Amino acid sequence: MKAGTLAREIAPGVHWLPVGRGLMRANVYLVESGDDWVLVDAATAGQAEVIARAAQELFGKACHPAAVLLTHDHPDHAGSARALAERWGVQIWVHPDELPLAIGGMRVFADYANPLDRWLILPLLGLSGERRQQATVTRASLRGMVHALDPRGKIPGLPDWELVPTPGHTPGHVAFSRPADGVLITGDAVVTLDLNSLRGLAKRRQCVSGPPWVATWSRRVAEKSIASVAALDPQVIAGGHGVPVAGEEAAAGLRALAAGSRMAKTRATERDSRGLTR
Ligand SMILES: [Zn+2]
Repeated sequence: MKAGTLAREIAPGVHWLPVGRGLMRANVYLVESGDDWVLVDAATAGQAEVIARAAQELFGKACHPAAVLLTHDHPDHAGSARALAERWGVQIWVHPDELPLAIGGMRVFADYANPLDRWLILPLLGLSGERRQQATVTRASLRGMVHALDPRGKIPGLPDWELVPTPGHTPGHVAFSRPADGVLITGDAVVTLDLNSLRGLAKRRQCVSGPPWVATWSRRVAEKSIASVAALDPQVIAGGHGVPVAGEEAAAGLRALAAGSRMAKTRATERDSRGLTR
């Protein structure tokens, strides 16, 4: 494997690639495991090229991943999943409780709605007429390529990792844990960017934080998942947004978050967004 210029190795074999701009900037991870590698999350639509380029730098042109795994099916994490899975000829995997959302359908979308969906997205869709609604939902659907992970079984392409159900942000949200060295890919169950205040957003303030509540299906369930993530005592938190954090900073931030502080400020404030904070 060659070192990449696009992705950065934040733990052995775990390569971090932040993709996109502004509010929709999200992290993807290219993770080596055994003889294979997998892609965890797929950013927004239209990012397949940059993700494939990063993969090519690391693994060579012919080296396709074993799978595309999604922490959850939101447009900033699943947007390029279909394009990449088709390009590489691989399948996409989500938790069984996320599968209805990934396959799509207007009624399912309404059942899985979060406050932002209810206040803005669904009313806007409602104005657009049935055909347009269906086209929007169909465009985002992963039908035909997406499968349910076995919550008690091996993760495709990640034999030395464990699946950690972290419902709340979405009903079938998951994290991926590597028990050997405490690396935890958390998706939006826990992020390392303050997505819950306008100032935090404007300054891209780095901190261990809960998911963006406005786009969270059940805050009560999500808070339980934060507690279960904290109980794992991760050594590296690789979230869906923000710069991954490690060591005491990760532990202290997560402890404070789990203890009920809405937002655990860390010393990583205003840090270079390319720098891993330790
Ligand atoms: Zn997100």
